[in-house]
Amino acid sequence: MKANVILMKCPETKRSYGVRIEERGGDWLRTWAFPLDEGRASREGYDRTKITGNLSPAEGFNGCPYCGSKEFVICGRCGKLSCWNKEERITCGWCGLTGDITTTTDAVSVRGGDM
Ligand SMILES: [Zn+2]
Ligand SMILES: [Zn+2]
Repeated sequence: MKANVILMKCPETKRSYGVRIEERGGDWLRTWAFPLDEGRASREGYDRTKITGNLSPAEGFNGCPYCGSKEFVICGRCGKLSCWNKEERITCGWCGLTGDITTTTDAVSVRGGDM
């Protein structure tokens, strides 16, 4: 079983967290979220994780450790992930872009750091 960690950010608190993901049949299940500062994520290489496929929440997924959201958005500008509380106004926790952010539960390509 392949497992990985992707980095997300909570726009409300501006804090980052890691989400452990496990591969199941070519897609990915989000199994656990935990507080993770960006410095440590960078040292571990989590900010450079690249995955393709669906990113569904697993049963029992705990959600963002700060706001509890289990939904996320992908920023149309920086391509990074932020949590989403199903509000109309969407804000990227990384670059601050509002509005024009892709919301999807379909297949995604995630890139963590800069290309
Ligand atoms: Zn959050
Ligand atoms: Zn962004």
